[in-house]
Amino acid sequence: MILILKPELDSESEDRVLDRLHELGINAQIVRTSGRAVVILKSDVSEEPNHRFTQIEGVVKAVRLSPGYSLASSIKNKSIAIVASAAGYSQKQSLIGSGHMPLVMAGPCAVESAEQILEVAAAVKDAGASVLRAGAFKPRTSPYEFQGLGEEGLEYLKEASKQTGLPIVTEVLSPDKVETVAEFADILQIGTRNMYNYELLREAGRLGRPVLLKRGMSATIDELLYAAEYVLKEGNEQVILCERGIRTFESRMRNTLDLSAVPLLKSLSGLPVVVDPSHATGLRAMVRPMARAAIACGADGLLLEVHDRPEQSISDAEQAIDPGELASVVKDMVSIVLALGLGAGSGDSEESTVEENALGAVAPCASVRTLSESI
Ligand code: PEP
Ligand code: MN
Repeated sequence: MILILKPELDSESEDRVLDRLHELGINAQIVRTSGRAVVILKSDVSEEPNHRFTQIEGVVKAVRLSPGYSLASSIKNKSIAIVASAAGYSQKQSLIGSGHMPLVMAGPCAVESAEQILEVAAAVKDAGASVLRAGAFKPRTSPYEFQGLGEEGLEYLKEASKQTGLPIVTEVLSPDKVETVAEFADILQIGTRNMYNYELLREAGRLGRPVLLKRGMSATIDELLYAAEYVLKEGNEQVILCERGIRTFESRMRNTLDLSAVPLLKSLSGLPVVVDPSHATGLRAMVRPMARAAIACGADGLLLEVHDRPEQSISDAEQAIDPGELASVVKDMVSIVLALGLGAGSGDSEESTVEENALGAVAPCASVRTLSESI
């Protein structure tokens, strides 16, 4: 950090600034440039708030030289184990993140009934998904639209997880519901509307469960990383970032999928990054091409809305794909991973096994290498 001092500060006042910093335990040095004095702080002040410095008499501004999300930016090649523990399948795990095959999380927008979620869960598993997604608590723009089945929906999700062995990702809308949702969810989803809900982020951080953090629809990359920092600061390093489209002037699609966010986020943090082409485009015909592009630019996974009867979906019917289309997306994904040599890179595992991420549904074989021979 650099502190800009008031112009024409006398040397006694400069010394008082240094003394105050010394009292705070901070190693600092005055440098003069273009006739103006600035103070360079040599100690790590990444966790110190700016006001601690700007309140010192004689300081006009505190400038950080590195972003304030020090935890997010210090994480390297993070991979996260996803376990279907809510349903008691704690031995089988899928891995998401650097060095692993991209993870497919798929399912309906909302849990609509026990029959629907059981049917879709079995279908997405057959199509190659590793995690079941569905909302029990739905954040809807209109209060008159279906708000989800709530805790009844969580019970149905648990049953679907028991029957398929798939871990569950489902959304939590408020801090007071984090514990309840975490009893059922293997990954807590924090949606676009809640990315700025700092109390929710903290509470999800405290629980220690993996968190799927979706980018706010008008959030910058830095704001997304600061939101992740709230979860990390509670001691929970299991954060998966999700690019789900942002609002732009384009109106034919629901949002604009900002794929440049994927390599950019990966250059700023080692947290896994997934892409949701369903909410990003809002159009089922766009899901497969954008899923391909997401994998090609390095996404660690896909979040996809899938329904056994897409047109009949209670919510987000226009963007739901059917299980057959999901199988095509998974197949594309494997082809792209192999063609570009992705998924077996710099992570902490030597090789990404097909079993890890349930790609056995596409080609039952042991590794990315042998998978290439079967497609
Ligand atoms: C969802 O994934 O169910 C969802 C509501 O997404 P978003 O928060 O990105 O709109
Ligand atoms: Mn949806």
